[in-house]
Amino acid sequence: MSVDPAKLRIEISPTEILRSKGAEVEVNDETRAVAARMVDLMRGAEGIGLAAPQVGLSWRLFVAHVPVHEDDPVDAEIPCNTVEPQAFFNPEIIAFSDDLEPYDEGCLSLPGITGEVRRPSTVTMRALDLGGKQVEVRATGLLARCWQHEIDHLDGVLILDKMSQMSRLKNRSRIKAMEKAGKR
Ligand SMILES: [Zn+2]
Repeated sequence: MSVDPAKLRIEISPTEILRSKGAEVEVNDETRAVAARMVDLMRGAEGIGLAAPQVGLSWRLFVAHVPVHEDDPVDAEIPCNTVEPQAFFNPEIIAFSDDLEPYDEGCLSLPGITGEVRRPSTVTMRALDLGGKQVEVRATGLLARCWQHEIDHLDGVLILDKMSQMSRLKNRSRIKAMEKAGKR
């Protein structure tokens, strides 16, 4: 299979691919080109993360860019943002803190929907970087949340499955309209 990165577009829920489990990938010219295209699509949509299933590919790959925010702690031991966009291949969370922080999340595949999702505030992830090298990286705050959200996508999991009951109620009519549009 060869993919033309220029043809990739952001998939909107509901679609089969967003519910499928991604397969492990090699880091090569093709998957690197896809990652670069995903960074462009993420930027264009003003998102902070994008996973391969969101562009129609059942691959274990995501990109993220949580930019530096003026309120962020300076010289924090564990990063909560990055200067440059990142790409991770075959990522897995190998350790997480035992707290659960609530936060309102959105998703580029679920336009107009945001919901409160509780997640561990700090995680350690093992993945391959753009050079194909295995890395173990730690993050906290929004960056840790972003990584967890994107890895969920690789397993076909959406915030619809994790949001609080209150958020589900709040978004009820939007979710219904989205499902209806998907059936057409
Ligand atoms: Zn998402």
